[in-house]
Amino acid sequence: MSYKSAKAVFESVIDSIKQEGLFKEERFIASPQGGTVAVRFPEDAPEKRIINLCANNYLGLSSHPDIVQAAHEGLESRGYGMSSVRFICGTQDIHRQLERKVSEFLGMEDTCLFASCFDANAAVFEALLTPEDALFCDKLIHASLIDGVRLCKAQRNVYTHSDMNELEEMLSKSTARIKLIVTDGVFSMDGDMAKLDQICDLADKYEAMVLVDESHSSGFIGKTGRGTHEHFNVMNRVDIITTTFGKALGGATGGCVSGKKEVVTLMKQRARPYLFSNSLMPAVVTATIKVLDVLSASTERRDKLETHTKYWREELTKAGFDLKPGNTPIVPIMLYDANLAQAFSRDLYDAGVFAVGFFYPVVPKGEARIRTQLSAALEKEDLDKALAEFIRIGKKHNVIK
Ligand SMILES: *Cc1c(COP(=O)(O)O)cnc(C)c1O
Repeated sequence: MSYKSAKAVFESVIDSIKQEGLFKEERFIASPQGGTVAVRFPEDAPEKRIINLCANNYLGLSSHPDIVQAAHEGLESRGYGMSSVRFICGTQDIHRQLERKVSEFLGMEDTCLFASCFDANAAVFEALLTPEDALFCDKLIHASLIDGVRLCKAQRNVYTHSDMNELEEMLSKSTARIKLIVTDGVFSMDGDMAKLDQICDLADKYEAMVLVDESHSSGFIGKTGRGTHEHFNVMNRVDIITTTFGKALGGATGGCVSGKKEVVTLMKQRARPYLFSNSLMPAVVTATIKVLDVLSASTERRDKLETHTKYWREELTKAGFDLKPGNTPIVPIMLYDANLAQAFSRDLYDAGVFAVGFFYPVVPKGEARIRTQLSAALEKEDLDKALAEFIRIGKKHNVIK
């Protein structure tokens, strides 16, 4: 089929996405990322300052002057691009420095950088496992972990979300060589945490390894922000962590696999996105080093985020909204219907609040929601203003009384 005929096929798919109310439209931001942003929507509309409740900028570091300064320094001292993969001529001293810093921050032996956490997750399983081995995955793991699992030949077991009995049953029956349990630390769509203490207990009992994706935890979950493993006091019982620098840790780009020495060595020998994709930009490397220094020196930002999170969850619950239960800065307000989620989000936007509707395929059909995310870049006044609009619009759509 040539493009001339394929065009009709593509058009009918696009039409059905639109008809189901699932078509996503992008808003155009004309300012740095922050607690408020200047947005144009549609593209030719005038600019408008709105409160941002949907960034992964948990710690407010995405446009922090010290981080921007550190990126400038990287640009000046090490140039713009590497024009090479790591193993040819793309490893600078700062890449290795960042790997050491990340290992120290996460409490792991060593770290291997990737262009993104998506790449890290796509890489990690294929580089380690064979058909003799087995994976035990939570049903709700991130799309990139699912893709990574698809790329490897190990046996696959998927347990119902956070169902420890089912996980135990699967582990007890398995005769695989290496057993690897795979979970998100904080689940991005629901904002709940994996039961990491129980997962580590099961791993001990059945001699399995544990991999946790900490993309929505690194920097702010746990007393000093090391992640879910710190929160559950299992810092030395997790074997492999994958995480991103594209969320709380400055929000630019980049990710990593951190863990046991041999695991990291194998990444650098075998991981295809490591071997065949360009090294991280030096400015990102120096800025991420700075982020880890800032976070190691003080928990002020993560503490502010925690206060915001408690307040926001309490006030929305009091107002009568149906929230997914949890205790992380991801606070999903359940609306169930995709069209309602779109309309709610548009009304919020008109009222100066930026919070996007989530619906199929990023969440299951019939589970549409507005996902709000807190940030240390927000102030209490921002939350109060946003809350008043949520209540007004919630009443308008008969979501609350
Ligand atoms: C965002 C996210 C990723 C992808 O991270 P990038 O660095 O943006 O590719 C991977 N896993 C989880 C759980 C995420 O939330």
